[in-house]
Amino acid sequence: MASRHGLRSLQRVTFQHPGLIVAPRTFSTVHDVPATPFSSKPPTEPPAPPTAERTGQLAKALNAIAPRNDWTKEEIQEVYETPLMELISAASQIHKRFHPPSAIQLCTLMNIKTGGCSEDCSYCAQSSRYSTGLKATKLSPVEEVLAAARIAKANGSNRFCMGAAWRDMRGRKTNLKNIKAMVTGVRELGMEACVTLGMIDAAQAKELKDAGLTAYNHNVDTSREHYPSVITTRSYDERLATIQHVADAGIHVCTGGILGLGENKKDHIGLVYTLATLPAHPESVPINTLVPIKGTPLGDTKPIAFDAVVRTIATARVCMPGSIVRLAAGRVVMSEEKQMLCFMAGANAVFTGEKMLTTDCNGWDEDKAMFDRWGLRPMESEELKPERKTLKVESASAAETSAEPASVAA
Ligand code: SF4
Repeated sequence: MASRHGLRSLQRVTFQHPGLIVAPRTFSTVHDVPATPFSSKPPTEPPAPPTAERTGQLAKALNAIAPRNDWTKEEIQEVYETPLMELISAASQIHKRFHPPSAIQLCTLMNIKTGGCSEDCSYCAQSSRYSTGLKATKLSPVEEVLAAARIAKANGSNRFCMGAAWRDMRGRKTNLKNIKAMVTGVRELGMEACVTLGMIDAAQAKELKDAGLTAYNHNVDTSREHYPSVITTRSYDERLATIQHVADAGIHVCTGGILGLGENKKDHIGLVYTLATLPAHPESVPINTLVPIKGTPLGDTKPIAFDAVVRTIATARVCMPGSIVRLAAGRVVMSEEKQMLCFMAGANAVFTGEKMLTTDCNGWDEDKAMFDRWGLRPMESEELKPERKTLKVESASAAETSAEPASVAA
């Protein structure tokens, strides 16, 4: 494969358009200079299209007409290990086919119940097992939450996410009633509503759907293999069961992971594999990077290399082309240029506002100024048309038989 690719490169270098005489190189001349640079005649023919540069899984992904969920780990590994600039370029092309390329979804995430969680997620400030100095609170009053949603809306956010630090919703009838009132209130503001409340069953998912819930967040966090070294109090399959309840209720699934939990590249591939082989791709895939919290087992963890973050985002974009890929926790410590590279690699959503759960968040004003500088704009709700969110997942063979890239209507 490598030598075929090398041959293609050689062919590109020696390609000459008919009628164009290329001057011989002298010394260490960098550019080939046409021998007739002063001709006023326009070229008689347009240049030939470039030779196809990509082969294998990336070429298939570039030609796919719909998302597919029959990825193998080996195929995802091939995508992940593509030379990085080539991977970013392909991810960017795929992004443009499935999404408005300048639109970034703005979400604001509010903690509606802080701390005191019985789980042992080793990165989390809100686990009651670790001394992080965080004070546990009860569920916030409905009006206080809706007031925060109104502020978020006034600042341009069109999705309002509400997080509660619970293991699950068992025996929380009153809390669920209040959360449903929050969901309905947020929808009445014309915003999308998302909650993250831990594990839920089918009946609770249906109640939330009936209240108007747009999306439910429940991350798988990392690969199935690495998961037990991060969390021991609930299993990977329990997480997947909640995701299934959410999907079955007709609520959009928001699920992703956290990078920098001591994993390796196999786990990044494994994370994308879990998500890209769900029966339907998640509507939203948050990619977080660890924000180390003193007092947690991962409190002294060194930051993950940035190239692994971009690579994972690009791989997620290639393998789940119709999903929103969310640049989530950890963005606050990224330079503007790093953030832009993530957007080029296919990320198209952020959390913005005063806080992101218990950690700092990039503020609305600084995000607005940054987006203006780079020609980005907030995604309108109507740009998330239902057909994009629920793009049919087709088999690989259907995608492969497509002779040319087809545009995916918004
Ligand atoms: S379940 Fe959520 S709130 Fe509880 S410890 Fe884990 S990440 Fe933190």
